[in-house]
Amino acid sequence: MSGRFAPSPSGPLHAGSLLAALGSWLDARARAERWQLRIEDIDPQREVPGAARDIAQCLTAHGLHWDGEISFQSQRRERYNSALQRLQTHLFCCECSRRSLRGIHYPGTCHNRRDFTAEGAWRLRVEDRVIHFVDARRGALSQNVAQEVGDFIVRRRDAWPAYQLAVVVDDAEQGITSVVRGRDLLDNTARQCYLQDLLGYPRPRVLHLPLAEHADGSKLSKHTGAPAVDQHTPVENLRRAWQQLQGSPAPQLALQPLLAWCVEHWRVEAIGLK
Ligand code: GLU
Repeated sequence: MSGRFAPSPSGPLHAGSLLAALGSWLDARARAERWQLRIEDIDPQREVPGAARDIAQCLTAHGLHWDGEISFQSQRRERYNSALQRLQTHLFCCECSRRSLRGIHYPGTCHNRRDFTAEGAWRLRVEDRVIHFVDARRGALSQNVAQEVGDFIVRRRDAWPAYQLAVVVDDAEQGITSVVRGRDLLDNTARQCYLQDLLGYPRPRVLHLPLAEHADGSKLSKHTGAPAVDQHTPVENLRRAWQQLQGSPAPQLALQPLLAWCVEHWRVEAIGLK
C-alpha cells in the first residue's frame, strides 16, 4: 500500500504544494503506508532547472521523507508508449489548435479521423457513459466524461505523453493505492478512472485536499505570485498547513514531535471541503 507526492518541477514548493505534500504524507503515515516521490517532468517547456532538487530539499527540510528512490517521468517514456499502444484502437489524431477549440469541452472535430500524422495530438475516443468514483472525504461523485470534457488528449503534439496518461500508468506500475492531492485536480479524476478501466488497472483510493489561499480567499498558485516556501521555518510552515488542512491549531512543538503529533491526530473527516 502506498501514497505518493507527484509535483511538476515548474518551480519551488509554495504554500499550496506544501499543503498537498503534507496531506498526502500524513494520510500515508497514519495508514502505515509507503509514500513515494515522483517528479512529473514531462513538460520541458514549463520545467525550471534545479526545481526538482529544490523540491526534494524542501521536503527533507520539513521532515517529509519519502520511501525508495525518487522517480522521474522523463525516464519512463517507453512505459507510456506501450500503454498508448494498448489503447491504439481508441485513439485518433487531432491537429486542431487550442485556440480554434477554445474552452474545456472538445467538440469532436476529428473524432472520426483514421490517419495519424506527426503534427497531431492523440485523443482518446470517449464513450458516452457516467464514471462513478468515491472521494474519501467528499463521498460519491460522478462525471460523464464524453459530455463534460469530450475526447481528451493522451499524447501531446510534441510527442510527450499527456498528464492524464502518465499519471495513470505510474500510479498503477508503482503500486500507488492512495492518490491524495489538491482539489484543483478533482476534475481530472473521472478521466483517470476512465483510463484505468480501459487499461485494466486497479483504481486507487482518491482524496482531494483544500487549496491554500491568500488572505483575500483567492487560490494560491505560481500564477498569483505564491512565494517559495521558506525552508528555514519548517515548524511554522507545517503548523500553518495543518491549520488549513484540519481547521484546528497544532501545538507548538519541535519538528519531529510535531510531525508525530500530526500523524496521530490526522482525521480525514476534519479535512476542509473548500
Ligand atoms: N503533477 C501534478 C501537479 O503538480 C500533480 C499530479 C497528481 O497529483 O495527480 O499539479
